Amino acid sequence: MIEAYKLNFKFEEPVRIAWKTFHHNAGDLLLIKQNNLMGYGEAVPDPFITRDTQDSVFHYLKENASLLPKEINLKTIQETHKKLPEGSPTARAAIDFALHDLWGKQERSKISNLYSKNVNTPLNCITIFGKNPKGTQLDVEKILKAYPHLKVIKIKLMGKDDIIRCQLIKEKVDEMKREISYVLDCNQAYKTSKEAINVLNQLKDILQDIILVEEPVTAKQWDVMKEVTDNVDIPIFADESAVNLEDVKIIIKKQCANGINIKLQKTGGIWPAKVIAEECEKHGLKVMVGCMFESSIGIAAGIHFAQSTKNVILTDLDYDLQMPDIYKYKPIFEDGIRKSTDKSGLGVELDFAKIERLKKSSKVIFEKVI
Ligand SMILES: [Mg+2]
Repeated sequence: MIEAYKLNFKFEEPVRIAWKTFHHNAGDLLLIKQNNLMGYGEAVPDPFITRDTQDSVFHYLKENASLLPKEINLKTIQETHKKLPEGSPTARAAIDFALHDLWGKQERSKISNLYSKNVNTPLNCITIFGKNPKGTQLDVEKILKAYPHLKVIKIKLMGKDDIIRCQLIKEKVDEMKREISYVLDCNQAYKTSKEAINVLNQLKDILQDIILVEEPVTAKQWDVMKEVTDNVDIPIFADESAVNLEDVKIIIKKQCANGINIKLQKTGGIWPAKVIAEECEKHGLKVMVGCMFESSIGIAAGIHFAQSTKNVILTDLDYDLQMPDIYKYKPIFEDGIRKSTDKSGLGVELDFAKIERLKKSSKVIFEKVI
């Protein structure tokens, strides 16, 4: 039996990247009840990236609820993915998370341990969004104070003022005597490979320790991306260019990036992400795990995937940290690493009493749709 809810959080302040400003997230929660167990799933659709919406997710869930398996194990999860039509990738992710949650609860095991006994513990970054130089420096200070254990900062580049913004960030980090590595996310901000190469090489001199750069130029312009990869001494990762396995195969064939940012909302869940990560590993590509505006359910799925996948070198799982708390228990951020709870499945439990209180403050919209 399935239930699905609209779940929207209002952001404390607007979130800006190179091409868009967000004021709230728009997510859908999926609950699958089976054999007295509850499996949690979450979809965070985006009309531009995953090409679906809150409404199309509900439509997809209703249309395909009959395809859910009666028995749950890895084989039936894989078979369900084969049966599910293309459609909404975030709805498929929600189904995949809920089935994995049920599988883990049934086996009394964390999801990561169902895949691997060796736990990978990559560092996690926190993002500095696009603001003017002064606002950027204030944000760095705030983040460094909020997370004394933080080791990696991700900077959203805007294609404008990036050099001065990065100089100010580095100054603040040095002033506060912190050891920080950086990830730069261009979100396609640069118009040409020449501009990207020029700016990124300067930023390397300023920041020094840059782990990787995401999506420097317009998505899927493979040759332009390759030119940047070949001429910048920092690993280039594809994000918007790598939506599915077909894209990843092109990237591998053309050798135009050194790694992939896997987001479970784009791949359609943990299992399809495993297939992509394995393809990357075969060809020497590294993986980072990113997120959309997911709450603790989607974030927990990302953590379990990262913990059980050996070529994951970094997680960028942070949006839940700024969202209101609607859970009894949920993953934490400690020692620079995202950690799942010790509970089985995803290790996350909704708290409906907290949700009711937050609804009154209008910070959360939570409505049953299915
Ligand atoms: Mg990105």
